[in-house]
Parts: sequence; C-alpha cells; structure tokens
Amino acid sequence: MSEEKVAIQGVAGSFHDLAARRFFAPKKIALLECETFEQVCQAVQTHEATAGVMAIENTIAGSLLPNYALLQTHHVSIVGEVYVRIQHNLLALPNQTLADIKVVQAHPMALLQCREFFKQYPHIRLEEAFDTAGIARKIHQEQLKGVGAIAGYYAAELYGLQVLAEGLESNHQNFTRFLVLSRRANPLTRQFNKASLGFRVAHTSGSLAEALLAFKRNGINLTKIQSIPIVGVPYEYTILVDVVWNDVTDFEQALREFKPCVLEYKIYGVYCEGEKNIDLTTRPHIRVEEPQALAQELGKKVASGEVHAKPWQTWLPSAPSAPSDYIIISGPCSAETEAQVRQAAHALASKNITKILRAGVWKPRTRAGGFEGNGVKALEWLANIKAETGLQLAVEVATAEHVEACLKYGVDIVWIGARTTGNPFSVQEIADAVRGTTLGVMVKNPISPDLELWIGAIERLYFAGIDKLVAIHRGFSTHEKTLYRNNPLWSLALQFRARLAHVPLICDPSHIAGKRELVPAVAQKAIDLGMNGLMIEAHPCPTSAWTDAAQQLTPDALAELLSSLKWKPKPDSHEQDTLDRLRAAIDRLDEEFVEIMAARMNLAREIGVFKKLNRLELYQPARWKEILDKRKAQGTKLSLSETFIEQLYEHVHQESLRVQSEVMGDPMPNQQKRAK
Ligand code: PEP
Ligand code: MN
Repeated sequence: MSEEKVAIQGVAGSFHDLAARRFFAPKKIALLECETFEQVCQAVQTHEATAGVMAIENTIAGSLLPNYALLQTHHVSIVGEVYVRIQHNLLALPNQTLADIKVVQAHPMALLQCREFFKQYPHIRLEEAFDTAGIARKIHQEQLKGVGAIAGYYAAELYGLQVLAEGLESNHQNFTRFLVLSRRANPLTRQFNKASLGFRVAHTSGSLAEALLAFKRNGINLTKIQSIPIVGVPYEYTILVDVVWNDVTDFEQALREFKPCVLEYKIYGVYCEGEKNIDLTTRPHIRVEEPQALAQELGKKVASGEVHAKPWQTWLPSAPSAPSDYIIISGPCSAETEAQVRQAAHALASKNITKILRAGVWKPRTRAGGFEGNGVKALEWLANIKAETGLQLAVEVATAEHVEACLKYGVDIVWIGARTTGNPFSVQEIADAVRGTTLGVMVKNPISPDLELWIGAIERLYFAGIDKLVAIHRGFSTHEKTLYRNNPLWSLALQFRARLAHVPLICDPSHIAGKRELVPAVAQKAIDLGMNGLMIEAHPCPTSAWTDAAQQLTPDALAELLSSLKWKPKPDSHEQDTLDRLRAAIDRLDEEFVEIMAARMNLAREIGVFKKLNRLELYQPARWKEILDKRKAQGTKLSLSETFIEQLYEHVHQESLRVQSEVMGDPMPNQQKRAK
C-alpha cells in the first residue's frame, strides 16, 4: 500500500496526528509538521503533501472560522472527516510524581479546560505555551524534570512519558472535528454520504430559506450551518452548510433545485460522514502504557452486550420474493466469467428474487491450486452489472486491500467469510479499513463451533464504529458426521441471537446443506427459528459451477423454493422489542449495581480491619457527612432527588457499619445505628 504524506498543524503526537492516523488506518502515514493551518493548505495545494488534516470545530470552543476561509482561498477539497474526543492527560517523565511537578506548560485552551483539576494542586504553576504535544516532545528530548505537559495518550506513548492523571478536563464532552483535505476532490458517487458547501444568496426576503428548502424537499439532512464574512464586502456573508444523505441521487436532485436559488456556490468536498461515537477509541490502538486497563475497558463493554446494529431496513433493500421483514441475498458462489455473473444477476433481478447480489471474487480455498477467484477483474464486471440491474453488491473480503478495491468499484456490502472470522487480526484489519465508509458488513460464523469468536468479530467491528452489521449462520465444522456439509448446530445460532439480540441474523442454507436437495429444509428451519433472512447461492448452470457445484440452485429453482417457504408472521411487535430491550438494559445495570455494592462492602470490611488495628472509632460522623454531601451534589447534577440519595445511602451506610462491626468484633452501639 502506498504511503500517505499528511500535513498537520502541530507536531507528532498531537490530536491532529491522531486524527490523521485514524483516518488513514491501516495505511501507514508520514507527517509533514506545519506551524499554521495556512501552511497545511499550502502543502496540500502544492502537492508537497498528499493530504492534510485541519481542525474545523470543537464542541466547546466552536468553529474555527479562519479555517473555513482557507478552504475558500486554496485549491483543496474535503475528502473526509474525523471526530476525535479530546482527552487531556497530565504527562511527565517516568518516575516523576504529581508532587515533583512544579510547572505545567500547555496551550491556553487546554489550561482553561483543566482549570478545576489544577485547583487541587496549588504548587503547580501553569504556563501558556504554543503547542501542547510540542511540550511533551520537549520534555522527552530535554529530559525535563519537574515539568508536565497536557496531551493525549498518543503523545505519552510516542515520547515515552507516563500518564500522571487522566481526563483532566472538566467537561468530557470535548470533541474536535477534523477535516481531511486533498488536492483531488472525491467524485459524487454513492460511496459518499456527506458534502460541505459554501454559497451566497441575494439580500432579499426568504432567499436563504428558499435555497435550504431544496435540501428539505429531498430528505437531505442539514447537519451544520455557519456564516462567515466575505472579506472586502462588508455585511455580506458566505453561508456554509454540511449536508448528509442516504441516497446520492437525492442529493443530486437537491443540487439541481438549489442552484437557481443562489448567486454562487462551491462544493468544498463530498466525503463519508465520520463516526462520532468514539470515546473509547481516544486511546491509541496500540497502547503500551496500560494494555490491561484498555482490555478491561473493552471487556466491560463486551460484557454488557451493547452491540446495537443499525436496523437493517434502513440500509438494506427488502426482497420482492419474501415478506418485507426478511433479508434475501442471492448470487453465484463465485464470479467465474462476466457472462456467467451477468446471466445470474439478470435472472435474479427479472424474477424479482432479490435486490442484493452476492458473488465471490476472492475465493478462500482449503488447498492451493483451485480456482481462487478473479479478483479486481471480477469487481469491474460486478460494477457494470450493478449499473445494468440496480442490484446492490455483496462480496467476501479477507484483507484491507480487498475492502479498498470493493470501495473503488461501488460494492455495497462486504462479508467476512467463515475462515476469516476466526482470525481476530484479519477482522481488526477489515474493521479499520471499513471504518468511516458507508459499507455494510456481514459476518459469517467461524468454521469452528466457537460462539465467542463469532461474537468477538462482530464486537470488533462495532467498536470500530461500524453499525451496518448482519450475522450469517453457515454451519460449523465438527467431528460429528451429519447429513450436511456443515453441521448447523442450531442451538449455537440461537445462543448468538440471545447474546446479540440487536444484530440481524440470517442463514446461509447453501453452505450448511452442501447439496441442493437439502437446501429447502434448512432454509425452512432457519425461518422457523426466527432468523431474519437467507443468503442462498444461485448459478445459471449449477452443475458446471467452478465452485460449490453440488449446492447451487438455478434462479428458477430458487424462486420456487422461496415461494414454497412458510414465512413466520412477524415474531415481535416493535413495541415488544422496545420493552424487551429496555428491560434487558435495566437488568444489566442492576447486575452491575449489585456487584458494585458487593465491592463496596468488601472495602468496608478492609476499613474495619484498619480501624481495629489502629484503635479507631467505628462510626466517623465527619466522614459520613462528607459521603452524603458529595453524593447529594452528584445526584443533583444527575437529576436525582436529595431524598432519594439520602434514603439510599442510609441503607448503604447501615450495611457498611454492620460489616465493619463484624470484623472489628464490636457490636454496633445503638446510637450508631442511626447514622445521622
Ligand atoms: C461463500 O459464501 O461462497 C463461502 C466461501 O462461504 P463460507 O465462508 O461460509 O465458507
Ligand atoms: Mn460457496
């Protein structure tokens, strides 16, 4: 893969650097450090850098208006965006403690955001400096003792500094949106779903509203609006908008209606909307400081089963051949020749079987020497066939390069095959490559009957910010001899369902059955068990297929099969789903709550031992008052009533005293029973 040279404002280790790495992952990047944003745009314009990264707005400080002006004056285009949570940590040389730190140097904005934290440490002098990560680098290069920097984890890692305190900022909802710039604009294709535009309207009543109505009429979401003064023309403004769409043709139509309403306009770029839900990933992927802590943090999320895939109806077409609650995908096992895929696709489309065409382009073969797929050549065929039939395309991928090729040829959905799901390295690589694109991802179960591997793969994608997810049950390889090519182990599929209730699960009867005669019974069973759809292989001439000849159906046979299936009535009403989901969430919180209480009582026991050894009183009124005051204040901030907190803590405190008195061997004196 070619290396990007990315111009950023600031130095390595800064949030600009982090944003750049996150955007281009898994590609490696070389940095061009610039002092100003103007230099960043200049470097992109002159090809000194292949791309640039420039902050444009912060959720606390607001928009960086001068940077909008740079977009107008430079030949650069927005090709992407990245949202980064700004977490300020206190960094210093290893072996330094907070007590050793005499001075902290940082950007005035960072100091402002961390003011509350430093009030606790009046011995630390705060000094304004130009560049936050630059100080981290200076501490490292000059081995400065007694000096602290405020920067992200990434700077700590890069400069071998230790994190003395994390999350110093008082407001944690601190995100910066970075734009990725390139000299070459992205084409307006369905691969992208967002655009930034600048325009000017006449100074007449309703002219701005009229222009914006073009977006409203076409269902385009306006995510940001901003005006900046036009230099040299007092009291005239350029209006800047960001818009997001589901279907690029809606945007094209909106543009047609918009143009006559404005005096002039410029598209600053079309790109993929960036992922905003990234608080977990502020930490770099490769943590050297605290791998344990990161694993625990992830583990917590994992245990909570919090994977909420986007409802499939919002991004996948339903099929005419089945009730609209089901996903139907079909196509040949492999794209063998252009004529063969074309024939299959046209038959599937004209017989109204499906709107999603599957075709293997890279074929995983157990042994070398077989047909391994036509690769990129087949993607070209598929792109043509998509244009002819309007079918969405689904292709199996195993590497980041496959994903990039799929993006280039307008593939809509990629799927991770059974041999790849079992390899977390590959799944992560694919997750990083898909992150920030509009691709949907389907995940087949791994070859081995290992539920955790399957769930782990889905979680990995979800934590990379991908929520267009579908799971595919294709059976497992087991020692047990069965009728089937792959043992369906239905109970595993049902367990998957129970664990990841919010991920649509479809069945691939072709790869379970292995023989076409068995496909209908497997498909029926899947529907009976409440699966959300089917992926079934279809080939114009199955017996001469280059792969999986025994299991593929002709489009006609498939149409017949689908019409003979007994579809279940919709299993749950939407309301029931919502209630179940909310109840499950409450159960999870309650579970955590009881665990926290158990941990708290264990600590109380330890305190009891300490008090006994040091002959301290069991009941310490000042401490109790402190606890209650702190919790009441916290509760108020979180809209919990004081009475509720008081009553809750009354019980908690009583139990704490009881377990302490147990270990102290002291009966609880009467007056201590009421702890107020
Ligand atoms: C396929 O779908 O053609 C395929 C190779 O499937 P699996 O990964 O389930 O073996
Ligand atoms: Mn196959």
